[in-house]
Parts: sequence; C-alpha cells; structure tokens
Amino acid sequence: MMRSHRAGSLRASDDGSEVTLCGWVDSRRDHGGVVFLDLRDVEGIVQVVVDPSRAGCEQAHRVRGEWVLRVVGTVKRRPEGTVNPEIGTGEIEVAASGLEVLNESEPVPFPLDEHAGEVDEGTRLRYRYLDLRRPAMQLNLLLRSRVNSSLRDSMSRQGFTEVETPMLIASTPEGARDFVVPSRLSPGSFYALPQSPQLFKQLLMVGGVDRYFQLARCLRDEDLRADRQFEFVQYDAEMSFAGADDVMEVVGTAVADAVEAATGERPGAFPRMTWHQAQERYGTDKPDVRFGMELVDLGPVFASTGFRAFQAEAVKGIRVVGEGAASRSRLDALTDRAKGLGAAGLVWMRVGEGGALESPVAKFLSDDERRDVVSAMAAEPGDLLLMVAGERRVANHVLGVLRLDLGRPPVSEGGLRFLWVVDFPLFEGLADDGSPVPAHHPFTMPHPDDLALLDAEGVDLLGVRSQAYDLVLNGWELGSGSVRIHRRDVQERIFTLLGIAPETARERFGFLLDAFRFGAPPHAGFAFGVDRLVAILAGEENIREVIAFPKTQSGADPLTGAPGPLDPAQLRELGLAVAVPQEATTRPDPER
Ligand code: ASP
Repeated sequence: MMRSHRAGSLRASDDGSEVTLCGWVDSRRDHGGVVFLDLRDVEGIVQVVVDPSRAGCEQAHRVRGEWVLRVVGTVKRRPEGTVNPEIGTGEIEVAASGLEVLNESEPVPFPLDEHAGEVDEGTRLRYRYLDLRRPAMQLNLLLRSRVNSSLRDSMSRQGFTEVETPMLIASTPEGARDFVVPSRLSPGSFYALPQSPQLFKQLLMVGGVDRYFQLARCLRDEDLRADRQFEFVQYDAEMSFAGADDVMEVVGTAVADAVEAATGERPGAFPRMTWHQAQERYGTDKPDVRFGMELVDLGPVFASTGFRAFQAEAVKGIRVVGEGAASRSRLDALTDRAKGLGAAGLVWMRVGEGGALESPVAKFLSDDERRDVVSAMAAEPGDLLLMVAGERRVANHVLGVLRLDLGRPPVSEGGLRFLWVVDFPLFEGLADDGSPVPAHHPFTMPHPDDLALLDAEGVDLLGVRSQAYDLVLNGWELGSGSVRIHRRDVQERIFTLLGIAPETARERFGFLLDAFRFGAPPHAGFAFGVDRLVAILAGEENIREVIAFPKTQSGADPLTGAPGPLDPAQLRELGLAVAVPQEATTRPDPER
C-alpha cells in the first residue's frame, strides 16, 4: 500500500498513530530549522513538521509547492496555542520520520487557493487539472457524483429501467441548432448529435419498456451562458400509461432524494403554479419565489384614469422596499433598462410620509388614484414604486426582469424553492410565415379541454394550452416535460398546424409516425439539467464550476485546443471541402 491514511481525514483521535500519507504540497514554511509543510489530498490538508537533519528527511528544504510527496510519521496533538479551528485536522500535526519526493512540479501558473476562482476563465480552463486540485472543485465533483448516484438509485427504486440511446442520430427538434457529424461511409451525409433523447424515449414506450430513464448527454449549438454549455447532462425519463401528475410525482421524488443525498435535508412538496399565474405575478415562466416583490395589477386603480399613458391594456407595478431615495441617475438607468426591454416608458413614484407620492406623473393622477395605488401596492414611506403600462405581455416581461435586477438574492442564499409551472401554452408565438412555434416541442399533447380549439375557425392559437410542465428552482428552469401525443392523426394534425408539410414530416419523423401505427401506449415524460441542479446545490452561479472540463464562453476548450481545423486528408476521406476563408477555420481565441 502506498499510503495508510488520507491526510485530510486525520483527527485528534489518531494521536499516536504511525501513518503514511501521499499528497501535494499546498504550502511550506521553512524557518531554517524545522520545515512546516501543508500536505493536501482529496480529503483535505494536514500540517507536517519535518526536521531535515533527520535521516530520511533530507529533502525537506528542497520541496516546493505542488510537489508530490510520500510522508511517514506520527500523529501528534498540536502544542497549546497552535490549534487551528478552521480545518478538520487543526488539532493535530504529523511529525515526519521519512519524506520521499514522488514527483516535482514547476511553479503553477496561478495559486491554488480560494482566490483561484477569480483567475481569468481561459487560464483556469487551460490548466483545469490544476484548478480541479482545489478543495472547492473536489467538493463540487463529489457533490455531482452523489447527485448522479442518488438519481440512479431513486429511479430504479421507482421501477425505471436505464436505457442508453444513441449519440449519432437524425435531428431531434428541441429548438436549438444541431451539432453535426459527417459520415465517412456515406460521404455528403451527416448525423446529428442528440439535442435530447426525446424521440428514442418515445420509441422505447412503443417498445414496451414502460418506464425509462437515463442520465443522457445532450448537445445543443446555442450561445453559451452561465446556465448553458454546448453539452450537458440531462436526467431524462419517460413513462407509459401515465399522465402529468404521475410524472411530477416520480420526478419530485427523484429530485428530493438527490437533494437529500447532497445536503442532508429533504425539501418539502413542490408547489404548483399555472403558467398564466407565473406571468401575472412574476412576469416570467420561471419565477424565483425566494423573494416577494410580486407584480401588482393596477388595472382596477386606473380603470377610468385621465392619464393617457395609463389608458392601456395593462398597468402593472412593483414595490421596491426602501429604495425611495434612489438618485435621479439611477432612476434614469432603470427607465433605459425598461425601454431596452420593450416598454414605452417607466413610471416611478417615491412614497413619502403619509403616503404622499413624488413622481413626474403625480400631477396627472386624481386624489383617489394616488391613494389607491399606495394601498394596492401596500406601499410604505421610503418605498419606490415602478410601473409599466402597455400590452399585458410586455408590461409583465419588463417588470419581471426589473424585479430580478433589483431583488434577486445570490444563488447560495434563500434556500431551495422548487416550483412546478403547469398549463403551458401549446405555442409560444408565430413564425415569420404565420405558423405557430411550439412552446415545448412538437410532440406535446394539447390540453384535453383545448383540443377542439385546434380545428375551430378563427381561434387565437396562442391561447391554446398544452399538457406541458416545467420544474423551476430559484428562478432557473431546471427542466421540462409533457404528456406526449401518441396518436398518429393528432401528431399529423400538429405537424400541419406548425407548417410542416406532410412530405417533410414523413421525411423527418416518418419513423415516429410509423411507430404510432402499431399500438403506441399513452405516455408522458420529463427531463432536467443535472448541471443546473448541482450548480445550485453547490451555490455556484455558473454551471462551469460543476463540470470537470467545460468550454469557455466562446465555446473553446483552451486545454485541448478544440475546436480546430481538420487535416486535409481527413477532409478528403469525409468528402468535405471547407468553404470559409482560412482564418475563419482557425481556433477561437482560447482565452475568451
Ligand atoms: N426532451 C425535452 C427536453 O429536452 C424534455 C422532455 O419533454 O422530456 O427539453
């Protein structure tokens, strides 16, 4: 055995034990006489005291940060006054009787301490293997592993079969761009990498699998953001002979199991809110309910107002507690932000003593309106009120964003607030050619009460509800699911509504329509981003921190240099010619 103990696991109860430890030199203090080394391994750090004049310890003066050592020694309680309560091993140290250098290290490009998170992204990712040595990163990977294994346990306990679906497939429409892979055996043909296993999991239901799940790797060529990478892992599930409630029950249990495994605390039942309520109260389909500041409908207050700007489809407001003293330049900045988001303007009111309103528009309002707005918003002296009037959709959206700008707590605060958002609309808008765009994906079953609307004349399709639901955590969309269409006629009807011509539908999804000819069971499913869940559990604002080897904001991997140009011979073999100018085929700036 190379070692007898993990360095970071030693405690006062090990006093007197002979130990052999292996690890990296986290730091060293050489006072000319004895040398103090902080030895780090996966469990943490322990202080080692070495006397270089002792036989077998001669190397101690030579060692430097990040050298790899094997230390033999005796655990001793630290002398009075030198106990370090900050670390688990703080009551003891190891008196070395031997020290072997297993490997040397060049000086590392950035200090591997708690400030490493502030080092620029390109450098951290270029030396990710060093970044990963930091205890914070080790903890994140450990947390992720725990979440994965508890999801697997939970799903198999709930009767689900883990099935792996293929990576080289035909395109799956999840609304993003595909990553494509050229085929060598059929030059000029391409596979798509899965945006999700959606169609395969539906085929598994037709195949009688009954309950499927997978921790599936998915790829979407979309701009990268704090909560989005090109590739991500999705907890993906599907159930036959089940509806929305069954799916929410199973997923809720699996998520609660994972949270409990990761944090030791089980979250309570997840409340539900309709999509419509979410828009009205929070101006978004993924409300962050860790804080209030809900949108207030001021329609009744201004129903017969003489103030032109408020004679609109909707007048809504938010109350910003205690911000009444905001400076003029801050209010101007908020107004610009609101306009940038599509509002015609932003009305602000400072609430003074006795509910008096100070606002550029106060003089246009009646006494009743001034009084009623204060009471409708439960405003107190010292508050700031922000209002947007216009189309309901726009007013909700603008105030929803301002609410987050002004009130959102950091990711690590406010606990875990899960929420199911249900009754999503079937369509989220209209494409340029006037055909509706699916809000979820084209395999989503319309709401049973709205099914007839699809065939009615002159119906506003944007008002048709679906049987889709999202799981939201602290304002992040964790994932989505739906009851699926399992009947060929309904699926064809939806394709037609979406403006997908029958030949195109055949060409792209013929295999699914065919499968539906042979007794497809009713089924429903769900998927959520494991990276997002783990990031929130780890208190990280960026999912990159819980992914071992992520890409930079510009989609590059500074460590391996991907993406890069292909060798001409490889291009020839694939039957490909590069049409863009040479400079465009070179690597993106790895430091970005
Ligand atoms: N395939 C969907 C997605 O990736 C999830 C689902 O409907 O199960 O968002």
